[in-house]
Amino acid sequence: MVKKIKQHVFTIPVTDGVMVYNSLNGRYALLNRDGVKLLKDTLIEPDNNSVPEDIKDLADFITAPGTGHPEKTGPLDPQFLGIIPSRKCNMACAYCDFGAHRNPQEKLDAGLMVTAIDWFAEHRIKQKQKTLPIQFFGGEPFVEQELMDIAVHHARFLGSRTGLIPRFEALSNGYYTESQRQFVKDYFDHIIISMDGFRKFHDVTRALRNNKSSFSKVAETLHYLSGESLILSIRCCITSESVNEMEAIAEWFCSEFNPDKVNFETLTENSLTRNAGINPPDPYHFAIHTVRSWKILRQHGVEPAYAPVSLNKPQTTSCPVGRDVVIIHPDGMLSSCYLQKDEWISKEMDLSVGLVRDKSVLLDEKKLIMLRNQLGNKHRCLNCFCRFGCAGGCHVNNTYPGSSADYEDYCIHTRIITLCSLLNEMGENDLIDELLNNHSSLEKLALQQSDKIADFDN
Ligand code: SF4
Ligand code: SF4
Repeated sequence: MVKKIKQHVFTIPVTDGVMVYNSLNGRYALLNRDGVKLLKDTLIEPDNNSVPEDIKDLADFITAPGTGHPEKTGPLDPQFLGIIPSRKCNMACAYCDFGAHRNPQEKLDAGLMVTAIDWFAEHRIKQKQKTLPIQFFGGEPFVEQELMDIAVHHARFLGSRTGLIPRFEALSNGYYTESQRQFVKDYFDHIIISMDGFRKFHDVTRALRNNKSSFSKVAETLHYLSGESLILSIRCCITSESVNEMEAIAEWFCSEFNPDKVNFETLTENSLTRNAGINPPDPYHFAIHTVRSWKILRQHGVEPAYAPVSLNKPQTTSCPVGRDVVIIHPDGMLSSCYLQKDEWISKEMDLSVGLVRDKSVLLDEKKLIMLRNQLGNKHRCLNCFCRFGCAGGCHVNNTYPGSSADYEDYCIHTRIITLCSLLNEMGENDLIDELLNNHSSLEKLALQQSDKIADFDN
């Protein structure tokens, strides 16, 4: 019992008070420090008669069983099939590290792609699933329109034969021709378009190859798809330049494009961004403006999308890796991560899980299953209250083997955003404002070394 409490009940300082949070059952309460000390005593020694009844009731509430540990077990169950038609791109984004700069010519063979889709459909039928979810990544996936056509129409053909309902989703730059816009509107269930805010920001980070602007065409795509029956998401990369205008950007996205979801994320620094002189935002500024922007989004009925915050559904990963996802790369390799192989290898990781050759899918199921539940190996996340939401973030760029055990900028903003999401659920809007206006309180919560209640006041 004590072991369980130590692992899943956390305390996080919030200005003068303390948030007590059980990351497995999603229950929380705001207490003063004396209340937390009593709660801790009760959890360690449940039969202690000197503890007031209301604290005992609180202990029962906080430790009530939840939906169970989110560790993934059971037979292979890929959440979706990923397809990377090529790494080519019709734009030249300043921060793109998806390989468009390195391997532009390689293109997925249509036969291998069809074999992968057939295998996935068979697997879904065996698993008694009703849908056939397929996601496209790049480069820019729509650069290979012919492959996209084949994939979509082949999956629809399989659907008509098997009863599986195909579901298509793509991560895309939105720089389309008129017919591509129509193709997306007609066949896609969810499209995630990258737009980095106002023209002055977007043109710096997401230009065309000859440094021309992509802004108007991407905005046209967003206008075209706005209000259609698909889910329209906007993904917006925030830099040190755009961070202070996030609320205005959120307001503008809502009024101009009426999206279903908006995802703000920070620029990931790499050699390309350093060369271009583009910098990530300060993590405190990003957290403050994200929380304020989310308020605006919610007022417009738009969902803030941010995978590392998952308050009511504990998870051991916040990305495709660990969810049995199979992604086919342009050379036929299968992996769970959409990055290029050399990226994982540089971090001493192997995320490949097989390959497609001729008419067969050679999948190393054991390897895929081993990628589940890596959270236990992430030293940095052991004592963090976000461990069953963020769960280490990106396994390659953030919590790779041998990465620092100290919090990084990503942790600072994730911890603040997660805490404010809990406060928002409680309706504690004044407390959120107070917290965001008090830098020393933000630092205290963001940098607390261990959130475990067992370490409270140690
Ligand atoms: S320590 Fe950082 S990476 Fe790990 S769960 Fe917490 S916020 Fe995420
Ligand atoms: S490991 Fe990182 S890059 Fe790979 S799928 Fe997960 S979040 Fe994306």
